[in-house]
Formats: sequence, C-alpha cells, structure tokens
Amino acid sequence: MADSLEHKINQISYELTIHQTALDNVSAYIFMKDLDGRYTYANKMVRELFNCSLEEIVGQDDSSFFSLDDSDEITVNDTYVMVNGVSIEKEERNVIMETGEVRYYWTTKKPLFDAKGKVIGLNGISTDITDQKQMQTNLRDNERQLKTIINHVDAYIYMKDREGKFLFINDKTADLFGVHASEVKGKTTRQLLPPELADNFDILDHKILASEEKVEGEEVFSNELGPDKYYWSTKIPIKDEKGKLVSFVGFSTEITKIVEQRKEFKEQAATDELTGIANRRHFMAEAYSKQASAIHKGSSMSVMIIDLDYFKRVNDSFGHHIGDVVLKEIAIELTQSVRSNDLVARMGGEEFAVLLPCTNLYQASLVAEKLRLKITSLVIPEKTGLSLTASIGIASCELHPEGVGAAMIKADEALYCAKHNGRNQVAT
Ligand code: GH3
Ligand code: MG
Ligand code: MG
Repeated sequence: MADSLEHKINQISYELTIHQTALDNVSAYIFMKDLDGRYTYANKMVRELFNCSLEEIVGQDDSSFFSLDDSDEITVNDTYVMVNGVSIEKEERNVIMETGEVRYYWTTKKPLFDAKGKVIGLNGISTDITDQKQMQTNLRDNERQLKTIINHVDAYIYMKDREGKFLFINDKTADLFGVHASEVKGKTTRQLLPPELADNFDILDHKILASEEKVEGEEVFSNELGPDKYYWSTKIPIKDEKGKLVSFVGFSTEITKIVEQRKEFKEQAATDELTGIANRRHFMAEAYSKQASAIHKGSSMSVMIIDLDYFKRVNDSFGHHIGDVVLKEIAIELTQSVRSNDLVARMGGEEFAVLLPCTNLYQASLVAEKLRLKITSLVIPEKTGLSLTASIGIASCELHPEGVGAAMIKADEALYCAKHNGRNQVAT
C-alpha cells in the first residue's frame, strides 16, 4: 500500500518535472496568479526577467517587479479577467522596475476556476513584442521621412503596375494632373488626362513594359491652358525575385527652360545674324536633306548663287552701316520673291544663295532673271544715284548624293562667268 503511494508520488513528481521543463523551454512568459494577484507559478523566462528564483517570486505581486505607477495595465487586465471570469488577449506595456526598461508584450490571460467553477486566479502567457514594435515604429518613421522627401523633392514621382495603372503619385504629380494623390490608385493615364496628353506620357511606359529595362527620354505636356511643358523622365523597373517586372517607378523633372534655350540656340546656329535669314550652315544642311527627298521622288532641284555687283562701292560711298541696311533689304526682297518651300540664305558678305526644290535648270533661270530685275529696281531710301545690280550663277543638282555639292561648285563657276562677262546677268 505504502509502496503504491510512493510510486504514485514519484510518478506525479516525475510528470510535474516534465511539465515544468516543457514550460521552461517555451519562449514565452508563463505565469499563474491567485485572486490577490500573487504569483503562484513563474516559468524560467519570467524568473530570468525578474532575476529571481521561483521561491522568491511565488507569493509576491507585480508591485515587486514592475513600476506599476508607469504601467497599471497589468493590474487592470488581471482584475478584469478575474472579476469577469473571461479571457483576454491584449498588448501590455510594462516598465521593468530593476532597469526602468519599457517592454511590450502580447498577453493572453485566462481565469483559473476551482471544481465549483469559482475563479481562483489566472494564468497568463506573454510574448515579448518589443522588437517588432520597435521595427514597426522604425518602419513608420522611415515611411514618414520618405513621404516628406518624395512630396518635397522638385520632381514628379509616380509608380505604375504592369497594366500601366497608377500605384502611387507624389503631391507634385497630383497637382500637375489636377487630382488628389489618393484618387489615382488603379487608374490609367487616360483615365486622368485627355487622350492626346495621356498617349504622349504612355510612350515611355510602353517602352519600359516591353523591355523591362530602365528607360529615359523627353516627355511633353501640352495643355490648352498654357504653353507646352517638357520633362526629362527616367523610368526604373521594379522586379520580383524571378526578375520579372511587377511595377516601375518614374522620376520626371521639368526641362521646359532648357528645351526653349536649346531651340533658341538651334535657331541661332542656323540664322545669319545681320539679315535674320538662313546662314550657309543651315543652307547646306537643308540642301543635302532636300536632295535626299528629291532623289527619292525623282524630282529635279536647282541652286542659285547671287553676288551683288561692286558692293564695295556702296560701303565706300555711303558707309558700312548703309551697306548693312542694303543687305537686309536684299534679304527681305529675295525671301518675298520666291516660293515658300524655296530657301534663301546669306552665304557670307554680299553673297546669297537660293535652294529651289522641284525646279529644273530652265525654270531656275526664269526665277534668277526675276530676282536680278527685282534687285535692279530696288529702291533703298538712303541710296542716292547708285544703282545696285547682281550677278547670278545657277546649276541643277544631279540626282546622286553628291549632287548638291557639285551643283554649288557649278553655280559658283557660272557666277564667275557672269561677273567676267560684264556682271548684272544670269549664267548657267
Ligand atoms: P564684285 O562685283 O566683283 O562682286 O565686286 P564687290 O565689290 O561686290 O566684291 P568684293 O568681293 O570685292 O567685295 C565684297 C564687298 O562686300 C566687301 C565688303 O566691303 C562688302 N561686304 C561684305 N560683307 C559685308 C557686310 O556684312 N556688310 C557690309 N556693309 N558690307 C559687306
Ligand atoms: Mg560682289
Ligand atoms: Mg562677293
């Protein structure tokens, strides 16, 4: 009989050891308390947290271990569980008394009942979520910082998915589109902007979606409310772990001023400063490009070089300034006397040239004669007594790529002949 009791006791204490070992190896704080909030059990993690043995903990309440003035949640929760006889799951903020450290726990507390169903205490399981909380806080802080940067940087920033639907736009982009940033999610550019505008913005989008590589380029925003705006846009793919594009982020900065300056420089580079008509560089570039389309269409093209006769005398008699005025008048006269798709240029000094697309040598000679007469009859207010004439050399372009260059040489030779033969005439 005594043997069997001893065996039973041994058996029970063996099982108890197993349970306690198991509870000590769970990475959670496990504890039990009586109705007065005094600990009746604390597992290894709790013992380590309090830096006390089980004997030192049992019989003590939380006022021995936590700064309850700073964190009364424990007492409030414990009371709630035991008074109402219900379980709760809650986050608890506890201040460890010994170190003053603040730690956060996810806690499950359940009432303990006696055989008659009366609450006699509670048991609790808590996991430390301080690190997760810290991570969450950091993440939120980072997000806030990032948002501040994204919304204050002088660039349009946006994100789109594979279908070209917006995932995000920053405030600056929202202002440009005339919407609120929160309204765009899931919408396409066409749902936000008029089609012609949207289609322009979508060109680069199609490119990145097709190539799945970073793309860069110029985009234009034309709006009838104001002048065109130009942007330099970089679009960067965001890929999944398999390397497949899932979305992309775009950065656009306005370059309208630069584009306008570029246009201005281009125009300046193509324009003769004194007369405002095309210069030699632009004339030759146009001549080669028109030559290419003439070859393509099998049409004729002619060139004409006009050199004013004895122009030195104008300068000598009336001064260089009047010479300049005369050159400007001639430029206007020539430009007004030819067709709109002919090109008049000042090649330098008192020499002009005319490019005549779709014009054969005979037709060019008629135009040249007309221009010669115009120059002869030109009335320049400041000019008194001096009649102005011009010698003109013309040539037609052979229909091969070097045609223009060769024709210019021939026209120059013809001009020399016209000068040699007494000036004020057209030569072919
Ligand atoms: P020719 O009939 O042989 O062409 O005689 P020309 O005097 O016109 O020819 P030349 O080449 O001997 O002299 C060209 C003159 O054109 C020299 C210069 O005084 C004048 N000239 C050249 N460029 C300009 C300019 O930009 N402004 C003015 N006012 N005169 C210029
Ligand atoms: Mg001359
Ligand atoms: Mg000359």
